[in-house]
Amino acid sequence: MEALFYERTGKDAVCRLCRRFCRIPPGGTGFCRVRKNESGRLEVLNYGRVAAASVDPVEKKPFFHFAPGSLAFSICSVGCNFSCGYCCNWNLSREWTDFGEEMSPEDVVNAALSSGSQGISYTYTEPTVFFEFASDCAKLARKSGLYNTFVTNGYASEEAVSAASGFLDAAVIDFKAAADPEFYRKHAGVRGAGEIFRTLEIFFEKGVFVEVTNLVIPRLGDDRRRFEVFCKRISDISPEIPLHVLRYFPSYRFSLPPTPEKTILEFVEIARKAGLKYVYPGNLPSGLDTVCGCGRVLIKRVGLPAVSVELKCPECGFEPPVKGRKWIPKNLLKTGGIK
Ligand code: SF4
Ligand code: SF4
Repeated sequence: MEALFYERTGKDAVCRLCRRFCRIPPGGTGFCRVRKNESGRLEVLNYGRVAAASVDPVEKKPFFHFAPGSLAFSICSVGCNFSCGYCCNWNLSREWTDFGEEMSPEDVVNAALSSGSQGISYTYTEPTVFFEFASDCAKLARKSGLYNTFVTNGYASEEAVSAASGFLDAAVIDFKAAADPEFYRKHAGVRGAGEIFRTLEIFFEKGVFVEVTNLVIPRLGDDRRRFEVFCKRISDISPEIPLHVLRYFPSYRFSLPPTPEKTILEFVEIARKAGLKYVYPGNLPSGLDTVCGCGRVLIKRVGLPAVSVELKCPECGFEPPVKGRKWIPKNLLKTGGIK
């Protein structure tokens, strides 16, 4: 299938899907290895190929303020425009051996519906590099009443982010090391993270609900001062954007020990002091509930999934920012209080 977002320059194709803007000679592929110049026409190699599919609680993405308690049929294709040395899904993002199962957008939507999921998440690798397939699935999913979400590194071009805003309900934007450009250069293979804030702003302005993660890696990405500045920048967009402070575990080429739990809890406090109202520790077993300012638990999460949701505090009347309400399973909604 012919790619979206590219232009021809002589015999080369310049891909404009992500901010790498690869200039691809005839017969060559871009950095992600899933877009190929075939005689001047840019072809998508991974269209309709699903490398992984699973039914996950939406909280695993992680979404804590979007459709809590719902199930997200989660899919990916192979490929990524980053080369993170700590990638948990490196066998799909960088070193895949085959393209995966053939599925049409109809197959994906039917599988999502028959699994009992309330929506679809394009995740695990980088959805930008299977944009055309995600877009076709999403348009069909929306007609079937399902939601659509991206879990993304945020490096898509402005043009692609704007187009994605037309079919997405929510997005998680993943940052690493509080957007340290040096970290991005050395460990993700990209020139910096400044433009990722622009992705966040575009989604926010266009009404796509956003949550943010930040991966804290010991020694390489745990600068407190930088993290405080990062949180203030998110808070300037909106203090209500939920932030997940993710604990790192060794994976792929990284053998550093896991981030100490106390570091994650310390970072959660820094984020709160910087003005963010909804901050959660990621990859820790506790501290996952959404708690009202008056102290009442409004969204209770056990393990990870929400098990009980109150959209209005019965003690003080406060309503937490929760989007995608129509997809919250009715049996989780409480009006009489969470025990
Ligand atoms: S999506 Fe990004 S990495 Fe892939 S070919 Fe296009 S510009 Fe290059
Ligand atoms: S952006 Fe995500 S999927 Fe891509 S290499 Fe990095 S961690 Fe892996």
